[in-house]
Amino acid sequence: MSTPCWIEVAVQTPAHSQVGGLLIYQCPFLVRPGQLVRVPLGQREVLGVVWTVQGVAPQDMPASAVRSVLAVLEGIGPLDTSWRLLVQFSAQYYQRSLGEVALSALPPQLRDLRPEQLARRLKKHTDRCVVQALPTHALSEEQNRVLAQMQQSPGPFLLFGSTGSGKTEVYLQAVERMLTADPQAQALIMVPEINLTPQLEERVQARFGTATVVSMHSGMTPAQRLKAWLAAHAGQARIVLGTRMAVFASMPQLQLIVVDEEHDPSYKQQEGARYSARDLAVYRGRLHNATVLLASATPSLESWHLSRPVNEGGRYVRLHMPSRIGTGLLPKVRRVDMNKQARRTVLSPPLLAALQARVERGEQCMLLLNRRGYAPVLHCADCGWKSQCKHCSAFRVFHKIDRTLRCHHCGLTERVPRACPDCGNADIAPIGRGTEQLEEHLGELLAHVKRPDGSPIRIARIDADSTRLKGALQSQLASVHAGEVDILVGTQMIAKGHDFRRITLVAAVNPDTALFSSDFRAPERLFALLMQAAGRAGRDAAQSATSEMWVQSFHPQHALFEALKKHDYPAFAASELAERTAADLPPISHQALLRADARSQEAAQALLNAARQALEELLNEDTATANLLTQVSLYPAVPMAMQRVADVERAQMLLESPSRMALQKVLWHLHGVLHQIRKQPEHKGVIRWLVDVDPQAI
Ligand code: ADP
Ligand code: ZN
Ligand code: ZN
Repeated sequence: MSTPCWIEVAVQTPAHSQVGGLLIYQCPFLVRPGQLVRVPLGQREVLGVVWTVQGVAPQDMPASAVRSVLAVLEGIGPLDTSWRLLVQFSAQYYQRSLGEVALSALPPQLRDLRPEQLARRLKKHTDRCVVQALPTHALSEEQNRVLAQMQQSPGPFLLFGSTGSGKTEVYLQAVERMLTADPQAQALIMVPEINLTPQLEERVQARFGTATVVSMHSGMTPAQRLKAWLAAHAGQARIVLGTRMAVFASMPQLQLIVVDEEHDPSYKQQEGARYSARDLAVYRGRLHNATVLLASATPSLESWHLSRPVNEGGRYVRLHMPSRIGTGLLPKVRRVDMNKQARRTVLSPPLLAALQARVERGEQCMLLLNRRGYAPVLHCADCGWKSQCKHCSAFRVFHKIDRTLRCHHCGLTERVPRACPDCGNADIAPIGRGTEQLEEHLGELLAHVKRPDGSPIRIARIDADSTRLKGALQSQLASVHAGEVDILVGTQMIAKGHDFRRITLVAAVNPDTALFSSDFRAPERLFALLMQAAGRAGRDAAQSATSEMWVQSFHPQHALFEALKKHDYPAFAASELAERTAADLPPISHQALLRADARSQEAAQALLNAARQALEELLNEDTATANLLTQVSLYPAVPMAMQRVADVERAQMLLESPSRMALQKVLWHLHGVLHQIRKQPEHKGVIRWLVDVDPQAI
């Protein structure tokens, strides 16, 4: 037994706590940084991560006031330095406490299980897996070139390749080479949403063996998550395939990180520490000296901008795969001018005719409408009543299937009233349309259409409503793959990543709203969605020459659709970046949002404006910090776009700067200011505040 030492431990601490989340304990036995310990906290016993080990007692605390560590978790090696640095950086950058980030990066069962229960789980982990990859395709010239380029520089890489160009194959090859070259090496593959791409999970497992690969995503049970985490931490699992949370997986031998569909907004966490898993992946790559590969057919403008030529300031290496595998061509894009259609046309005659012809030939089609439910709002023409949610600044959506009005924000669900609640008019009508109505409408319009064998047309819908039950999405996708569906109607859920082999026509029914959104990222999102959707058509090379992507629009000449027609992401990106540059928006500038939730909008804004004023006063006290104010713009508080959700009023304040560093420094000061102000009696109506660094929506 060695002499007692003093250690700093990260424990789960309340959000925003300024101590950085580290608490001091005495430790009667030898521990190392990164080890997991159980410590007393108040009346409880909690899990902690040893952060630093010190030989001398803290000066500002009597030794008797320092409590003792209760136990070290045996059998689990320390979390390595790179992991700890990643956590530390994330906490700092995203303005959260270290303890919160550290503990939420661990599987919940590690916190909750009794030590003896944990010991039992640990017995099961032993051997490291030997990778035995199955033989695969001969690579295309482009694939070979890209893999060779990856050998020639340390990266990070942005793999920009058309849908179906074989990007997945490239990164699986890169993983395979890495793992066979070094029997210890580990690779992390991140995907936006595993539930949407069960195929990829199967593909990776089939390729490398189920024992080699572990998954990490929120759909797993706590026991599965612990098992996967332990396997990765012990180095036994060679590949971790996971969603954004997997960026924090403990992988001591990490040598390669892949971020698939790197443009996907779901890489940004929307609660707690609002981290971007894509950005952290790049940071983590540096810490581990691991190769980072971001891949997309429509990169985020952030990554695209970062992969500009080095002499223009670029920091990523751009790799390009323009061609589809085989003789596969990208679908022909056809635009329908909705100004020329009869009023209130939902599905234009030429599109209907095209759908009919495809179904009669035995081909599959996909219709995309980014709005679920039957109609976004019910309306009384007599008195003007609308199905407003009483708790939110939103309308309740009409769902015909169960005749309910549902708020998609707070969940409030009620039966559809028989008559207008305000004036008693029995004739209340839906306005606008969602996927449910589109499915119904399509069924009526194409009721006479027969499949090649004379059987009736089959229409199916996939969206958040149709897939609520566990396993529903999988079985619905399977029936599309099996050819049991002729026309698939759905939201963006069906546009992402699926390798539908039989679809030859994809149509966006009403994509116009995103063209004129107040969110400056809306066009970028729409373009990515449409390119992704187009990528679903003609994936089977034999069909690709006749495959089509249809867009119905009142603005068919819009630059976005022009670029789509040419499958020209670079042209789209160039024009978007020019606009962003002119308006000083990301990725040219950097943003952060300070948000406040309160019982009233005034209270929410008052906190933000008081914080701004106090911050300016504080920074102006010193010339060094006053200089920061010239680099960071602080905007006045405004209501959020969704101003009220579940009776909570929400306001935000934007901070913007060309310098990430200056913005970070200001946020650091802001944090301190907020802790002071929050305590003042006039702000007691405030429920919570939070900071969102690099927000995805403003
Ligand atoms: P992406 O990720 O770019 O959409 P994938 O890697 O999924 O493309 O490849 C598209 C399809 O082409 C998949 O079915 C894949 O198995 C196949 N494929 C990929 N590379 C090759 C190759 N070199 N030869 C033959 N088929 C390939
Ligand atoms: Zn009415
Ligand atoms: Zn609501």
